[in-house]
Amino acid sequence: MSENQFAEDALLAHIHASVPGAAHVLVGPGDDMAVIKVHGGHLLAAKDVLVEGRHFLASASMAQIGRKAVTRNISDVAAMAARPVAILAACVLPRSITQARAQELVDAISHTAARFGAPLIGGDTCLHVGNGPLTLCVTVLAEPLEGVKPILRGGARAGDQLFVTGALGGSLAKDGGGHHFTFEPRLAESHALARLLGANLHAMMDLSDGLARDGSRLAEASALQAVIIAEQLPCTPACVQAHTQAKAWQGALGDGEDYELLFAVAAGVQMPSTIGPNNTPITCIGSLQALPFPNDTALLCLHNHQSVDVSKLGHWHDSI
Ligand SMILES: [Mg+2]
Repeated sequence: MSENQFAEDALLAHIHASVPGAAHVLVGPGDDMAVIKVHGGHLLAAKDVLVEGRHFLASASMAQIGRKAVTRNISDVAAMAARPVAILAACVLPRSITQARAQELVDAISHTAARFGAPLIGGDTCLHVGNGPLTLCVTVLAEPLEGVKPILRGGARAGDQLFVTGALGGSLAKDGGGHHFTFEPRLAESHALARLLGANLHAMMDLSDGLARDGSRLAEASALQAVIIAEQLPCTPACVQAHTQAKAWQGALGDGEDYELLFAVAAGVQMPSTIGPNNTPITCIGSLQALPFPNDTALLCLHNHQSVDVSKLGHWHDSI
């Protein structure tokens, strides 16, 4: 790679290393949400960007785009086992957009956010200078649940069991639609997990860039190695259809945009097979162990009891 080439991970590393801390910043860049101390309590904040051509096709409806811009932020709130309280939205609109479509977009953002108890409280809009793509930026604010500390990525311990909610893979249909537009953030499930497990829920995040990438992130944050058993991965019907039954596990690791929860539970804790008001399935997909040697890979995937290289699977465009 030339020195002029952009590498997102290098930029993230730069941000993580260079952003100054502050006494009131309890969790800075690098988790699903930041946590800041404010008078009387804690406030959580996160921001996501959504760009035409990257996160949706030009053929997507304003309703789909507005909904997704909010739900992927709410998924980050779920990852922390927190409660959303408000959103702010910024839209950079193509010059060709009509008044009706712009209003449809804003309505979709506002209605979706209100459904999660997080009203749209402000933001900004402007038109592109040239023929730039529709670009949305949503900030979500949240508060901790009563008596529940935000669940971070870095709290896992050696020996923990690793679980996911729901099923993985096949999120993006060939026509550009699919689960990435229709998913329901696992907010109720995350709250139920936090209440059920208490201090035994060691770490959690939502899966946006694919389990191969995000599983590495959780393990790295905890200075551990995630061991994933390919045969145990729950795959969606769309994943099986797209990859065939034999290779569906690769889709579960790499397709991304699942917006399911990945979480680490203390060893020995007996888990139910479902969680939350909708009886969402939960599946043990592996465990966490101490790194066999320093700088070893953060994620080991076993298929037929053999280690397989999954480092090229997953997306590399998630938030900071
Ligand atoms: Mg996230």
